[in-house]
Amino acid sequence: MEAIRNVYCVGRNYKLHAEELGNAVPTSPMIFSKPTHALVLANGENIMLPANQGEIHYEAEFVIRIGREYEPGLGTEDMVDGFALGIDFTLRDVQDGLKKKGHPWLVSKGFKNSAIITEFQEFPGDEAIKETDFTLVKNGVEVQRGNIKDVIFDLQTLITFIGEQLGLGKGDIIYTGTPAGVGPVADGDQLRLTWGEKTLGECQITMK
Ligand code: ZN
Repeated sequence: MEAIRNVYCVGRNYKLHAEELGNAVPTSPMIFSKPTHALVLANGENIMLPANQGEIHYEAEFVIRIGREYEPGLGTEDMVDGFALGIDFTLRDVQDGLKKKGHPWLVSKGFKNSAIITEFQEFPGDEAIKETDFTLVKNGVEVQRGNIKDVIFDLQTLITFIGEQLGLGKGDIIYTGTPAGVGPVADGDQLRLTWGEKTLGECQITMK
């Protein structure tokens, strides 16, 4: 895997998901980030997650990789050099506690192995990606299905927002938010991320 620099994530980017957690639908992109130590490749092997910190929710997401330094006016197809699928794992109980206290939610979102990523694929273009759904299959059952055409803030809006506010350059990746259907993982779960009919990555969860 090419070196990844910043790992940006987008919260509440699908209306149905914002509503399922009882959150207001945002009016501007809600961006957070994870340490690169959170990254782990979905290559069929076991992935270790903490067993004693309450519920861990999966959030399957479409992920883009940035191929050059941000400049105003550049389009998605100029900026993006690959896409992958990912899972943004969230310690949901820990996060609820942090939100209540008004504290940063980093430890609930940025813990080790909390950012699963598949191998990157060639970016087929802004319009072409809307022709294919991505799914998360847990133990043989589809639990999430998303399509980038349903996001509140599209790729161009995210790139411009992050590029202007936070900086964006080669090697940065963006988890673009999760569709409805998030739920808990358990020890021994088998997870598979698909793009249309194609499996991009899979793994088994070990909780310890
Ligand atoms: Zn997420």
